[in-house]
Amino acid sequence: MPKLPIYLDNNATTPTDPRVLDVMLPYYTEKFGNASSRHHAYGWTAEDAVDLAREQASALIGASPDELIFTSGATESVNTALKGVFETYRPKGNHLITVASEHPCVLDTCRHIEKAGGRVTYLPVGSNGLINLQELRAAITAETLLVSVMYANNETGVIQPIRAIGEICREKGVIFHTDATQAVGKVPVNVIEEGIGLLSFSAHKLYGPKGAGGLYIRRKDPRVRLKPLLEGGGHEKGLRSGTLNVPGIVGFGKACEIAALQMEQDAKKLSALRDKLEKALLEIPGTALNGSAPDGPEDYRLPHVSNIRFDGLKGDLLMSAMPDLAISSGSACTSASPEPSHVLLAMGLSEEEARSSLRFSLGRFTDPADIDAAIGICRQAVERLRREGAH
Ligand SMILES: *Cc1c(COP(=O)(O)O)cnc(C)c1O
Repeated sequence: MPKLPIYLDNNATTPTDPRVLDVMLPYYTEKFGNASSRHHAYGWTAEDAVDLAREQASALIGASPDELIFTSGATESVNTALKGVFETYRPKGNHLITVASEHPCVLDTCRHIEKAGGRVTYLPVGSNGLINLQELRAAITAETLLVSVMYANNETGVIQPIRAIGEICREKGVIFHTDATQAVGKVPVNVIEEGIGLLSFSAHKLYGPKGAGGLYIRRKDPRVRLKPLLEGGGHEKGLRSGTLNVPGIVGFGKACEIAALQMEQDAKKLSALRDKLEKALLEIPGTALNGSAPDGPEDYRLPHVSNIRFDGLKGDLLMSAMPDLAISSGSACTSASPEPSHVLLAMGLSEEEARSSLRFSLGRFTDPADIDAAIGICRQAVERLRREGAH
């Protein structure tokens, strides 16, 4: 029997890889220096470690080290990118374009920008979760400063046509930001080949520690300029003041290095396990896959995510009937009556359909026994609830 509860919620956060933790620990104890201390070896040791991490993390996305700043995570990176562009380029225009199915850190930042006098277009998505490129093109005006489209969706794993979006933005002279938090380290990402101007990502979604993340800021062709969120000591080229989280950054770098080496192998293993889980769950009567694009290209979604609808059942009820399974409903559980997922609603699901959907996200440490057990647990719970006539 695998360790319980079986963890299939890797899109919420991943465990820290033991190899990552190993390299982090000395930076809490004997190598505790402040990376900005210029006058002694403690500082230099910390600075060297941050330099290495910057090389490792930038290499994973095809950037150069001087184009990456470290942050506390993707939420901060996204806030810095969107607010920073709006503040810096405001004299040129006030319009941003994003997508209805983005992560709350993008949507809420856009709402903030609207209150500050910006105008935001929220592009719809089709039933497959993808934006329409003609609609994107048509939405861009002379006032448009930035297009922000997530690389891969956290709830469905659907991957947007990033390269094509990058080309459109380049042609129109608009900055392209992507929230690539779920994609980096899982599928190949390259800021140059994909025409990305700004990219946000996070350590704890790729087997690194919580509280560390990165923002890629293109330096040339064209250079992207930003105003910082935080003022202070001028760390990170003045874009992110505050003492660097050296252990977290060291772990982030190591996690990126491991991902670069292991991504292909992980993806192969995980897509086989995910397909097995998905096939078995879809054999249960009254189930359907959310975010499939059967006629799309093969890499249309992440290899380790499956979002399944169990018609007639409430996702939250089903989850509580499966305490041995750690999964998620994708809804923002901020209150006693959770809102249905805005991602699934944007894809055209009804509120009831959205509420009956669950996300299974596998990770590097998922093994075949976990999947076999998860299939059994899920099957039994659905049958029992349906027998009892639960709604
Ligand atoms: C987790 C996640 C975030 C937030 O990342 P943090 O590092 O926790 O702030 C942003 N966007 C997406 C798509 C995510 O999955």
